[in-house]
Amino acid sequence: MPLHENQTIGRYAPSPTGYLHLGNLRTALLAWLQVRLASGRFILRMEDLDTPRVRPESEASILADLHWLGLDWDEGPDCGGPQSPYNQSRRAEIYDYYLQRLREAGRAFPCFCSRKDVLLASSAPHGPDGPLYPGTCRNHLGLAVMPARGRDERRPAWRFLVNDRDVSFTDQLLGPQSQNLARDVGDFVIRRADDLFAYQLAVVVDDALMGVTDVVRGSDLLASTARQIVLFDALGFAAPTYWHVPLMCDASGARMAKRDGTFSVAQLRAQGQTAPQIIGGLAHSVGLIDRNEPLTCRDLLDGLTLPEFTARLKNRTKGGSHESSGKESR
Ligand code: GLU
Repeated sequence: MPLHENQTIGRYAPSPTGYLHLGNLRTALLAWLQVRLASGRFILRMEDLDTPRVRPESEASILADLHWLGLDWDEGPDCGGPQSPYNQSRRAEIYDYYLQRLREAGRAFPCFCSRKDVLLASSAPHGPDGPLYPGTCRNHLGLAVMPARGRDERRPAWRFLVNDRDVSFTDQLLGPQSQNLARDVGDFVIRRADDLFAYQLAVVVDDALMGVTDVVRGSDLLASTARQIVLFDALGFAAPTYWHVPLMCDASGARMAKRDGTFSVAQLRAQGQTAPQIIGGLAHSVGLIDRNEPLTCRDLLDGLTLPEFTARLKNRTKGGSHESSGKESR
């Protein structure tokens, strides 16, 4: 929670599914700069919910890489803080509490459909994230019965019931945004049938409890933001301000992926690159500095003001360079 009113609280929330690549580092750097330029608190949160995809060595390497670059944080898995633990894999009880609240409010319902059922529902149109949920189990809600099929043999997923209305917000960099969830996404999963909590619910509960005021993250997550805003609302929390920053592509124009292992800090270090060279290159690549020259995080901070940071990033983001693919592709 803020130590004083109006304090900026931001976070970087990596999923430990591989080594950080340059694109991840740039997002981390921008999230850190936004907070430090506002004299705020910076949180590092490990989004290790999707346990089958988590790589055991990844968390330690992420922390080490960020420290090596010169970033620091006030709360995190390695230093604790008022909202410990900072690993999502250890916060299931907290998410469960908020899922119960959504159930009590009539906003969450059990769904026995498999992915294949959703795909096969002949009338299901496709939104930006794939096939729209056709409402099969939602339609049983009024009757208070579970679909007979699957009642015994399968555990349900839990879905959030969306309304047919436009969700509008203003991104600090991309400007006004709007999405109709009923039309584009449908009732979305907040707890999976394998009992894992879904990213959408966990991220909202954590950002709310950790008092996050500003979310700086990659623009691939723009497509998740309306879902998160309705969850904040349904849980009675105020949504943070969002800054979706451009994603970094490799020389062939393809988006960098953690699983590739290319452009990892370890690899760059092995090539003899220093932290200031990487920081200067990243800051230059997104238009924060005019010349590509080695700089420490501190130098960068001392040479910028928050309005300059915002204006330069906005300038770089103008024209909307976001990719609207869903969370799943990360
Ligand atoms: N854990 C997500 C990722 O690594 C980021 C989530 C967020 O910033 O909201 O892609």
